Amino acid sequence: MSYFKPLKKEIEKYLNPDQVDQIEKAYLYAETAHGDQKRRTGEPYITHPVAVSCILADMRLDAESIMAALLHDVIEDTGVEKKDIAHLFGAQVADLVDGVSKLTQIKFESHAEAQAENFRKMVLAMARDIRVILIKLADRLHNMRTLGALLPVKRKRIALETLEIYAPIANRLGMHNFRVEFEDLGFAALHPLRYRILADAVKKAHGNRKKIINTIEKALRTSLTRGQLAFSHVWGREKHLYSIYKKMRNKNLPFSQILDVYAFRIIVKDVDNCYRVLGVVHNLYKPVPERFKDYIAIPKANGYQSLHTTLFGPFGVPIEIQIRTEQMDQLAENGIAAHWIYKTGADSFSDAQVRAREWLQGLLEMQKNAGDSIEFIENVKIDLFPQEVYVFTPKGNIFDLPKGATPIDFAYAIHSDIGNTCVASKIDRKLAPLSTVLNNGQTVEIITAPKARPNPAWLSFVVTGKARSSIRHYLKKQREGESIALGKRLLEQALDKPIHKMDRKKIEEVLKHHQFTQLDQLYESIGLGDQIARVVADRIVHGVDHEKLKTFETDQPLAIKGTEGMVITYADCCRPIPGDQIIGMLDKGRGLIIHHELCPKVQHLQHRSDKYISVCWEESVEGEFPADLNVEIANHRGALALLASSIATAEANIDNISVIQRDGRYHQVLLTVSVKGRTHLARVMRRIRALKSVVKITRRKLI
Ligand code: MN
Repeated sequence: MSYFKPLKKEIEKYLNPDQVDQIEKAYLYAETAHGDQKRRTGEPYITHPVAVSCILADMRLDAESIMAALLHDVIEDTGVEKKDIAHLFGAQVADLVDGVSKLTQIKFESHAEAQAENFRKMVLAMARDIRVILIKLADRLHNMRTLGALLPVKRKRIALETLEIYAPIANRLGMHNFRVEFEDLGFAALHPLRYRILADAVKKAHGNRKKIINTIEKALRTSLTRGQLAFSHVWGREKHLYSIYKKMRNKNLPFSQILDVYAFRIIVKDVDNCYRVLGVVHNLYKPVPERFKDYIAIPKANGYQSLHTTLFGPFGVPIEIQIRTEQMDQLAENGIAAHWIYKTGADSFSDAQVRAREWLQGLLEMQKNAGDSIEFIENVKIDLFPQEVYVFTPKGNIFDLPKGATPIDFAYAIHSDIGNTCVASKIDRKLAPLSTVLNNGQTVEIITAPKARPNPAWLSFVVTGKARSSIRHYLKKQREGESIALGKRLLEQALDKPIHKMDRKKIEEVLKHHQFTQLDQLYESIGLGDQIARVVADRIVHGVDHEKLKTFETDQPLAIKGTEGMVITYADCCRPIPGDQIIGMLDKGRGLIIHHELCPKVQHLQHRSDKYISVCWEESVEGEFPADLNVEIANHRGALALLASSIATAEANIDNISVIQRDGRYHQVLLTVSVKGRTHLARVMRRIRALKSVVKITRRKLI
């Protein structure tokens, strides 16, 4: 119970008694759930969630966030499930806890810079509620404060992750205080020796600095008072160690030069006073030319507002001065979280996402006159309202894909060969359809097979340009190959003998006549229906000048194997199946279309020998073909189920089914089934006819 006291004291300052009670319940629940788990420091585990909650209470976060912070490790570390939390504390708290747990589960292991940027984006994208990020940041902050208890290797890994991921996120959200603490703690853990040397140097220089700072501070106060200006604070400030370290490293400056800058901040009550104070300090010390920056009129990209100026100080030292209002100061320190601090005590808490949007809206308004740095805001917007998803390869690399992306998009993002030979996918180690829409943080594995090829149906669900164009490209290539094969068969059929038995010279002439350089080009144009096999054959036999078409009364029909691919299609209007009498129609650019001989669409073309060619089914034709059935069935309970199972026992698939209610007693069922041919269809129909409730069955007539 005692661990709750400090938190209770803090939340009582801004939450109502009901909310405090709820939070206490969450505390008791978490304490029980963690039982006698201990932290590395030896303290009971519950001290950690309490400390995290205190950080958030200090920021005046709402009751739900505090409850979620108390419960943030129970899903991960104890047997509690999300639904238990939802049941006891409501869906919102459960969602927050779940969001934090998910962030905890993803592990940052690669040190590549690009990877870090993607990882930051993913962390932001995964948290649909900005409070999840705030809880996670507070969690990380407390872990960093107690990092000493861990083994050095783990300490360094966490420190690096903090510097590369969490400090930049805090910075992006304008949370200066968090960023500074993350950076200094991270720096200390990652480079303990450098940290100590630098800290010692700063301490040593401190004595001298203190005197100078006091002198300048006094001079500033005096001038401000004399000018009758209201100010609440004037103070000299030290740069944090990590920023000194970074400056030394990046700008190659010696320590003395960096520390030789004296920085002050003056807080006033309104904007008007900011500019008046500026006038006073410029009067006191001479300003360094071109160092004045007005971030009030033109705020920084993350919303930061302040006046900055640099002066020549009394001992020849440069003085940096920041002037801003209290509200600007709050925002500079706490960024997005400052909004909770300001809005406490007001009406009921609205959705945090709404507030995050307000924050962005505020930034946009501030930027309106500025015109630049919009880019940052665009970034934050993307982060908070993501249009992208981030998924892992099994090896832990991150890929970003547009929202709505599927495993096929992912496969093509890795490599077009992977996409082209992809047959199945696993999402989080479970088999999933290739059309599944991916979510943030999932691990996706693509299963390939050497002979697999892209399916044209993929085009209906892929979202990335890369996948789309790769599939199209492949299909085009494939189609070319198939057209060549079909064209050769058509030509040899028209010649009635193999091409190599023909006069080579005549063939060359024909190629030249058509402006082709290779025989394959000629085949392809025949296969695609751009050239008529008979005409080409006639030219090969009689020479290109021979214009009169020979009559081909006794053509051998072309045998359809069912494996020709995309270059042969089966007409949807009449749906021929093996065993039906068929004819082939050449369609320019599409190849050969197979119709039922009685199909009304081809009746008027039968005498056009340039358009249709005679075809027949090869004896061992492969594949499944759709056929339409019309079934009248009595309206019994379960009649449809029996119908479906009788089709299944006949080893046919149902492609489509629709039911038309005719009267109370009978239904008309329109079925499309896949069959191997007429014999198979007859077997299917026999099975259906054998059902008691079936009154009548017919293969649907051609229209
Ligand atoms: Mn934790």
